Amino acid sequence: MNVAENYKKIRKEIPEQVSIVVAAKTRTATELSEIIDAGATDIGENYVQEAKSAYEQLGEKANRVRWHLIGSLQKNKINKALPIFDIIQTIGDYEIAENIDKKVERAGKKIVPVCIEINIGSEFTKYGVKPEFKSIEELIRKISDNLKYLKIVGLMTMGPRVGDPEDSREYFRKTKEIFERIKTLSLPRVEMKILSMGMSNSYEVAIQEGSNLVRIGTSIFGERKY
Ligand SMILES: *Cc1c(COP(=O)(O)O)cnc(C)c1O
Repeated sequence: MNVAENYKKIRKEIPEQVSIVVAAKTRTATELSEIIDAGATDIGENYVQEAKSAYEQLGEKANRVRWHLIGSLQKNKINKALPIFDIIQTIGDYEIAENIDKKVERAGKKIVPVCIEINIGSEFTKYGVKPEFKSIEELIRKISDNLKYLKIVGLMTMGPRVGDPEDSREYFRKTKEIFERIKTLSLPRVEMKILSMGMSNSYEVAIQEGSNLVRIGTSIFGERKY
């Protein structure tokens, strides 16, 4: 099967209200072009430089899809990232949020939609806010109170990378609970719409637990060759 067929098959399997963000790391612009032709609506990139290169090579076609940043953003890449990405899914601390906020106007944008990234398994090796509700609420309130150009539109989590997707279920469930609790706070510029969780090996479980955006690479393109 080719990548276009893989995409269409997964698109058919997954409920309509769940968005598929095609995880593009290590894939060529040609592969992304194929996937856009197959009907992909959203592309997820981990690295700003890789995104910029694909974006430029795709030309007009790049405008047919929404671009999501799904890898963490370094301060010195913000100016390069802002013109490309429609949404930044990886806000895990106030400092990066504040640095982005300062640059939005100059980039000619009015608002930048972001998701808060939660390190739901409290893993040392992963970026993201600690899963304690208090820490998450504090970060969201601080952004909402102080940063005028960011709009928090949801939560994102990687979940621990485990062999058995069933083992991720409790983490997805916890993230969904946090998502619902944030909704009840009714804060300015905070609108919990996106719950981004689930990858190739775990998207079915994630959707059962309330995910409405899955990020899929391997199941579409095959294993990555680094
Ligand atoms: C690579 C990646 C994915 C997709 O992983 P697959 O296992 O290839 O589907 C999803 N989200 C993030 C943040 C990634 O880096």
